[in-house]
Amino acid sequence: MNLKNIGEEYDVAIVGAGPAGLFLANLIKDLDFIVLEEHREVGKPLHCAGLLSLKGLKRIGFMPQKSIQNKVRGAIFISPSGLKLIVESRRDEAVVVNRTFFDKELAEKVSDNIKLRTKVVKVAKRSGKWILKTGSGSIRSKILVDAEGFRYNLSTKLGFEKPPKDLLLPAIQVELEKIRDLNRDLVEIYLGSKWAPGFFAWIIPLSEDEARVGLAARELPFSYLKNFLGKHPIASSKLKKAKVKRILGGRVVLTGIYGKIAKKSSILIGDVAGQTKPTTGGGVVYSGIAAHIASNIIREELAKNSGEIVLEEYDKAWRRLMGRELFLMKTARRFMMQINDKDYDEMIKKMKEIGFESVAERDGDMDFQYKILKKIIMTPSLYISQLPYLLTAFIKSLLTS
Ligand SMILES: Cc1cc2nc3c(=O)[nH]c(=O)nc-3n(C[C@H](O)[C@H](O)[C@H](O)COP(=O)(O)OP(=O)(O)OC[C@H]3O[C@@H](n4cnc5c(N)ncnc54)[C@H](O)[C@@H]3O)c2cc1C
Repeated sequence: MNLKNIGEEYDVAIVGAGPAGLFLANLIKDLDFIVLEEHREVGKPLHCAGLLSLKGLKRIGFMPQKSIQNKVRGAIFISPSGLKLIVESRRDEAVVVNRTFFDKELAEKVSDNIKLRTKVVKVAKRSGKWILKTGSGSIRSKILVDAEGFRYNLSTKLGFEKPPKDLLLPAIQVELEKIRDLNRDLVEIYLGSKWAPGFFAWIIPLSEDEARVGLAARELPFSYLKNFLGKHPIASSKLKKAKVKRILGGRVVLTGIYGKIAKKSSILIGDVAGQTKPTTGGGVVYSGIAAHIASNIIREELAKNSGEIVLEEYDKAWRRLMGRELFLMKTARRFMMQINDKDYDEMIKKMKEIGFESVAERDGDMDFQYKILKKIIMTPSLYISQLPYLLTAFIKSLLTS
């Protein structure tokens, strides 16, 4: 048992035992650290669809075992009027995991350093050290890592910038069984303002007849989900008679980079740092990438033993690696939030005409979308009539990066 008594001091205190906090914990296992988690169990409550790219998991060096429920080879995009664009590979591209078990797998090797039922309610800095007040006392640390997820309570207290509200969308998801005509190899993405304004609805298969079905929207996600399940001309025929096993809500973070994520001896990681894909909201792999950067910089700073910790290099390194990628994805997201259903249909139709399905299959990467987005930008015929929207999206992204 590595936990010290309340009031003792650690080199690193991580607030939040989600994937971001846990990836980092695993990478600094040999250091003096603690993870503080408000809930009584790691991985709960659940707020994720659990779709993770195999390439991404290999990149971050963590391949889940016990939590994998299904493997998928691609996706079908369904336009507002029902046109289908299928991007399918011959091999498995992604796994669908049970996020509760995934987080527990991540926690296995660092469980001695996780303090559950410990909510950090206040933070202060005194004589160069962080004091973290919890319900049951306080903890001191040289470095503070905020991995609190999408709530921004602590980050605001620490003086980090607030995220742009229009890029945080409320989401809802149900786990269904007894679904008809489900292809367990393909994820289904449904576009259209009638079904999920500002985002999309998804069906992520878990087996031949079970799936996670959800959506994010600018507002009222629950009403939109009810409408989608009961009335979508394609989806409802599969889903209408299905049985709801579980329901969960959350917030999809589409902000990309919008402010600094490091200040002297405190850093943000994961959703709270905007480390998700603005196109899809997927954040697990990105939090793993960020954890690798953060762990190296934390290690170097502690090794200096200079008395003053300076972690700003983490912000710079993240921007160097992901800045271009996130900028383009954020522009694409803002563009997609503005165009209307007719434009969406037109784009999907043109994409089919120019054989985009095979281009996407060849050059697509679920996590690093720069290459494919660049290809789209280099094909102006796809979006020429919506050019003003693209320019507005581009300028807005430029102003908030
Ligand atoms: C509906 C939905 C579906 C999604 N689907 C996918 C998907 O398919 N693939 C994908 O990659 N991503 C997906 N995401 C995004 C993914 O869930 C997040 O990117 C990921 O969970 C971020 O991890 P995190 O560690 O930053 O935050 P979290 O997972 O939110 O963990 C933060 C932890 O910090 C704890 N905490 C917060 N404040 C305090 C405090 N003051 N004191 C102590 N503990 C605290 C919380 O209890 C929580 O356990 C989805 C999100 C939603 C909403």
